Order: sequence, then structure tokens, then C-alpha cells
Amino acid sequence: MSVRVDPAGNLVGRYEGERDGPPLLIGSHLDSVRDAGRYDGPLGIMLGVECVAALHAEERRMSFPIEVYAFGDEEGSRFPAAMLTSRAVAGTLDPATLDLRDAAGISLEDALALNGLSVSGFASARHGAALAYLEAHIEQGPVLEAEALGVGTVTGIAAQLRYAITVTGRAGHAGTTSMALRRDALSAAAAMISKAEEVARAGDADLVATVGSIEVYPGAANVVPGEVRFTLDVRAASDAGRDAAALTIRSGFEAIARERGVRYICRLLQDLPASPCDPALMALMDAAIDDAGVSPFRLVSGAGHDAMILASLCPTAMLFIRCEGGISHNPAERVSANDCEIALRVMRGFIDKLGATVRD
Ligand SMILES: [Zn+2]
Repeated sequence: MSVRVDPAGNLVGRYEGERDGPPLLIGSHLDSVRDAGRYDGPLGIMLGVECVAALHAEERRMSFPIEVYAFGDEEGSRFPAAMLTSRAVAGTLDPATLDLRDAAGISLEDALALNGLSVSGFASARHGAALAYLEAHIEQGPVLEAEALGVGTVTGIAAQLRYAITVTGRAGHAGTTSMALRRDALSAAAAMISKAEEVARAGDADLVATVGSIEVYPGAANVVPGEVRFTLDVRAASDAGRDAAALTIRSGFEAIARERGVRYICRLLQDLPASPCDPALMALMDAAIDDAGVSPFRLVSGAGHDAMILASLCPTAMLFIRCEGGISHNPAERVSANDCEIALRVMRGFIDKLGATVRD
């Protein structure tokens, strides 16, 4: 491959095809979180490199070029933004949103300058027409392990809604405020959290709801809580499934607030629509998995990936690889060498099948 660093700091290797034209992009991210595992991101890049190495060893060229992308920022570990570099490639990055600083107060502009890059240069990392984007990634969940499968076809990235909720009751003395007179914001919030869990448990397997952060005020052992703030995160495979669940949860919250005489405010923080993978490419992936001797299996991704960004540039396909116990963002993250071999075989099969569709 000829190798370059693009203006967004992505490391790119290009393997020429028999003829020029829109390339197949294969990629994942090189960055990680603190105290991360070894596979989240880099495995997808290594598999892309291995696909090209195998073609090269056979002295084969596809009819289209292949570009392997190692994206420089997916997790947003340093600056308060995520997927900056794949957004630059997809052409969906607004330079006006890049006035960012890290925890130490260093600006993105200064950090880039140390590497010979600039915020204004990010726009020129935009890619021209691409044939497709292929990403292999560890599942970061327990589904493939439970199904006893090494790999699976990703149907898309789940739709997500995130809310900030404030429940206001009345603070009071824990010793002298009788139970009948209380407007306990935390007891109300506890009922709401149980409601969110109940709705999600009753829904389809792809529906999940999480309260991951809660603050109690004034937060003293001898005071009835007067105000509680918490977050609610709802995800599902489709926008409609997500919206219906969120509506049920929120009307449940309103009913609880009414019953308990507390005030309830719900503010929308984030609305990310579902990002479906390309149906024709999913069929190619299923067929490649079948050829590799594994039963084709489809699953939705609850986590975000560069693939959902690239979906605005070209059709995308994703392959999930089983990881032990579904553990990720943790040094205990583990993938078996055998599953990596299977993933490589599937990706090579996928590339061949894509080649056959382009030739027609
Ligand atoms: Zn990742």
C-alpha cells in the first residue's frame, strides 16, 4: 500500500485496483479510552491490513482500489467531541464546532499544530465518492457469545435519545416531617427509574433504557431530598421503537410525579436517529459468513461506530466479532485468535463478493 496521513490525522493505506474508481474503504479507529482493552478499534484496522496483505501475497488486484483507514479520534477521549476524524472524511464536520479544549485547557488547534495539522485543514480530509465502507469491530456486548457464534452481521447502529430530568419536591427535616406530608424527590425518582427499567424489560431485545447518573439535593442524611436530577438514555434498533418506548416511559414519569405531588421537568439532550447498514451489503456479509462455515446471524449495535458517520458518504457494512463476556473499555477485553481468523475469512469473502457485483 502507499501510505499517507490525511489532513485530519488519519493514517491511510491505499492498494490500487486493476482500474481507478471509487475505492472500498475498510477502517476502524486507532484511538481508545483510558484503561482500555487492545481490540476496540485497532482490531478492525489490522483486519483491513490483513485483507490487503492476503491479496498482495496472491498478487491479486480487485477491480477497485482499497483504502484502509485508521481513524484518529472516535472515542473523544481527550476533546469533548467524538468521531471528529471520520466526520472529517465523511464531510459532515462543521469547523465552527472545533473550538475545543481538553481538560488541561489545551486547544484542539494547538494540539493539532504539534502534529503539523490544523483545524482549518480538517475540511480537506473529505473523501470523494466511495464504493462502500466496511468495518469489523468487537461486539462489546454478550449477544454473539450467548449465541455461540464467532461473528455476526450488524444491521445498523441503534437510535438513541438522551434526556436530563429534574424532579422537584420539598426538602424537610428527616426527623420531624411526617410521611404523609412529604414531597420526597428521591422516592419519586426511584419509582421513575424502576418504571424505565420495567418498560425496557417488557420490550423487544434491542430496546434498552438506562439511568446512569443521578444527583440528590441537598444530599444530607438528615434531610428529605428536595430535588433530584438524573439522566435517561433510551436506545432501540428503529427510531419508531425508540420513540414509542420513550413516550411510554415519560408518561409513566408524569403519572408518578402527579401521584406524589412533585414537579417534573424533562429536557431532551440528544437525538441520534438509527443508522441502518446497507441491505445489499448485509446480504453479501451473510453469504460470506455462511461460506466461512458460521451460521449467519444479524444483530443491532447499541454503541456508536465510525460506520454510522461514513453512512452519509457511501453504503456501509459492519461485522461484529465475539468478545469474552461482552467486556470492553477494560484491560480484560479479549477476543480469540480463532474468531479473528474467521473474521478475516469473512471479510475476504465479502470483498470478493463485492468485486463480483462491481464487475457486472
Ligand atoms: Zn470502538
